[in-house]
This record gives sequence, structure tokens and C-alpha cells, in this order.
Amino acid sequence: VRRCIFCDIAGGTAAASVVYRGETCLAFMDVHPIRQGHVLVIPIEHSARLDEIDPRARQELLTTASRVLAALRKSGLARDGANLLLNDGSAANQHVPHVHIHVIPRTRGDRLKTIACFVGRMLNVFGRSAKRAELERVAQEIRRHF
Ligand SMILES: [Zn+2]
Repeated sequence: VRRCIFCDIAGGTAAASVVYRGETCLAFMDVHPIRQGHVLVIPIEHSARLDEIDPRARQELLTTASRVLAALRKSGLARDGANLLLNDGSAANQHVPHVHIHVIPRTRGDRLKTIACFVGRMLNVFGRSAKRAELERVAQEIRRHF
């Protein structure tokens, strides 16, 4: 059952630059990246909240997020570090009601730029999106290190 944009992506009816597809979860490039290499990891089955996911899928979700993290590090996109972020519930800025983990590469000294991007995202979540070709290029680079 497709209930949201992430269900459409998981079902292949909406475009996405896929990094990895597992048995129960999917990793793809965020179309509104806060930083280059910003990946989202979602369970394929729709669930709004983390505690509603099947435990096996929840395990694969975290395993995949850490594999994305390792690939980002190896690719040089997240040489200095990364933020893993899960907003659970609309009061916590969960804009799409389908569980997702943000993996956001960080580099030393990016603080101001990142904060500016965060604010922009809060104000207009459907604002400027990255070009598909650029997302594909970065997804390919991450896949190479997966
Ligand atoms: Zn969904």
C-alpha cells in the first residue's frame, strides 16, 4: 500500500537516486540535501514511527545506516564525521510520516553553512531541490564504496 512519497520511492513510482536496496529497507539521496552526500534510509514497509516497525526491519535500518556512514567516510564525502538524525513525530520536525534516518556528512568548519541550510529547510521543505544528475553522480560514488 502506497501512502506517502517514500512509499512511492520504495515502490519505484517516484524517482530517486538509490544507494542501496536491502530486503526490508532502502537508502537513497535526499532530494533536499543539507550537505553533499545527504542520504535517507527508510524501511520499505510504511510505518510512521520507529516503534511500529518490524524488529528485523528496524535492525536492517540501523545496519544500512551504518554501512552508508562507512561508505560516505571511505568516499571522502564524510571524512570528518556525519550526523545520523531520526525525527520521530511531526512535533519533532518529521515532515514525511514514514520512518527515515538522515545520514548527513559533516566537514570541519561547515557549521554556519549547515545551520543556514537547516533553517532554509524548516521554512520551505519543498524549496530548491538538487539536480537529479548531481544526485545520481553522488549516489554512484557512495555505491562504489558500499
Ligand atoms: Zn510511506
